[in-house]
Amino acid sequence: SVSDPDRLREIVAEICDHMAGQTDRGAVADYIPELARVDPGRFALTLVTHEGEVIAGGDADTPFSIQSVSKVFALAVALGRIGDALWSRVGREPSGDPFNSIVQLEHERGIPRNPFINAGAIAVTDAILARSEPREALGQILQFVRYLAGDDDIAIDPAVAKSETATGWRNAALANFMRGFGTIERHPDKTLGTYFHQCAIAMTTTQLAHAGRFLAFDGALSPGGSRAIAPRMARQINALMLTCGHYDGSGEFAFRVGLPGKSGVGGGILAVAPGRASIGAWSPGLNAVGNSHLASMALEMLADRTGWSVFAPK
Ligand code: GLU
Repeated sequence: SVSDPDRLREIVAEICDHMAGQTDRGAVADYIPELARVDPGRFALTLVTHEGEVIAGGDADTPFSIQSVSKVFALAVALGRIGDALWSRVGREPSGDPFNSIVQLEHERGIPRNPFINAGAIAVTDAILARSEPREALGQILQFVRYLAGDDDIAIDPAVAKSETATGWRNAALANFMRGFGTIERHPDKTLGTYFHQCAIAMTTTQLAHAGRFLAFDGALSPGGSRAIAPRMARQINALMLTCGHYDGSGEFAFRVGLPGKSGVGGGILAVAPGRASIGAWSPGLNAVGNSHLASMALEMLADRTGWSVFAPK
């Protein structure tokens, strides 16, 4: 597999060139009005390698709304805080249903299938909230992301949070439904407010790739470096990203790319090549199941060129 930085730079440049020429870019999410304003022509890719090399191309300095990629960071915060007790509230199976689906909740006593569909993520955020105020819980998530990325400039985009708070009817339905089962314990408005703000964190692909290092390096910010979470938990999160990180497109992403990844409707994807690199990719246009069309394609090309699939022998 490829680890030479010069060769990786060539590969990233090749991918960025290829994406610049694409006319079919998918459709920008518009159910959150503020997201519909983003330029679909954007594309960015950043790798942070095990040697700490940062290789970036395209609009890698443009912040975008990380949306559901935040579910990975929230899960790490919740596991750090309450550990395995979290798993009494949320499962670990792929759902095969769309990101905002409610259908399975009634049959499974209000326990969402996994922490990466909306229902599961709302349950995770509620667990972080516990007895604290939304401002404190949100502060914890944001501080953790800043620490992981090594960048205190990372912030929440208030316009996106407001836009989703005003229109997030389906998430409100999920939260109320789960409150009825006792899966979430706080008033749904508090949990939702925290969740919408967590989703509205804005980051560049370079910040995202830095923030994902802890998953690439077994819980540490660099190989043998300072530890963000226990290795066991980092491996568990990677397993969930591989099986559940792309909603009802998770099988397809694993098949095509072969790396743990988590997508967001802002068009971002955080992908992890264990032991090798953390990868941030972004392009706002989405495919039919709500994952970035070009970012998925870019990761497929990257895995192909580098041999970084988790299924390839080391
Ligand atoms: N905030 C979005 C929602 O809850 C996140 C969905 C996503 O990024 O896939 O609908």
